[in-house]
Amino acid sequence: MGKIIDGNLISAKVKDEVKNEVEKLKMKGITPCLAVIIVGSDPASRVYVNNKKKACEYTGMKSLEFALPEETSQEELLNLIDKLNEDKQVNGILCQLPLPKSIDEETVLNKIAPEKDVDAFHPLNVGHIMIGDAKLLPCTPAGVVEMLDYSNIDLKGKTCAIIGRSNIVGKPMAMLMVQRDATVTVCHSKTKNLSEITRNSDIIISSAGRKNLITADMVKDGAVVIDVSINRDENGKLCGDVDYENVKEKASYITPVPGGVGPMTISVLMKNTLMATKSQNGEA
Ligand code: NAP
Repeated sequence: MGKIIDGNLISAKVKDEVKNEVEKLKMKGITPCLAVIIVGSDPASRVYVNNKKKACEYTGMKSLEFALPEETSQEELLNLIDKLNEDKQVNGILCQLPLPKSIDEETVLNKIAPEKDVDAFHPLNVGHIMIGDAKLLPCTPAGVVEMLDYSNIDLKGKTCAIIGRSNIVGKPMAMLMVQRDATVTVCHSKTKNLSEITRNSDIIISSAGRKNLITADMVKDGAVVIDVSINRDENGKLCGDVDYENVKEKASYITPVPGGVGPMTISVLMKNTLMATKSQNGEA
């Protein structure tokens, strides 16, 4: 049976490291501050924003919340971002997605000052991720790499199938794995012979958002299986893409859902806010 990679445990360790660093900064009179914007009343977004606020509290950072009504115009939102970009007290800015349909997501994300863009969605930061010299890391993919490192999994020369090619998960995940010397295949909905690719992979990272996509017959013995997705099964219970009960018998390492990649995203967000604060204050 595969070893379970415990995202809650690793995330707590990362947050403790950030907390220590924040204490040191505070002794120099610097308190990192994260501004979180939420537009509308999507219940899932509300949960994510609350969790981000809690993580700020835990690590000793200040958090500011800007909860705007659903009918907020794009112009109003861009004006708020402008103000936060200018505000020297604010080190990180994030705009919780999804935004209402009347607002263009790309325009909003591009408005956030790159040095405060703690989600690393701005094209300039995406470029740094591509080049391999990013200070601000893509939160979920970097969380996956933290988990692999914590578990001492050697990535060099390993074959890695990434399922999903979104800008938030799949594409930056591929870049980070290539930088770590893995040989990567990026799969998507048009990929032919997905199971052939996964069966030949030492590492499978699935972010398709399709429950039961990865079954045991698609996994080779001893593979490392990372499940990024958050889906609901027919009983409303959270699940990932992987048929966890059967795949864990074949895998050498596996992440559960919940309690796997999910908590890591927030701990990398805290790392990014710390890094943004340090570099804005000449400390990095
Ligand atoms: P997304 O934008 O919907 O992308 C899904 C990707 O999966 C697309 O590239 C799609 O291909 C591909 N795909 C869909 N069905 C497939 C299939 N049957 N076979 C192969 N590829 C398939 O989603 P996302 O934003 O990347 O998020 C992915 C999942 O991760 C979601 O469940 C989301 O909730 C979860 N997530 C979790 C965290 C976390 O903190 N753990 C963070 C972010 C996202 P096409 O490009 O061809 O459509």
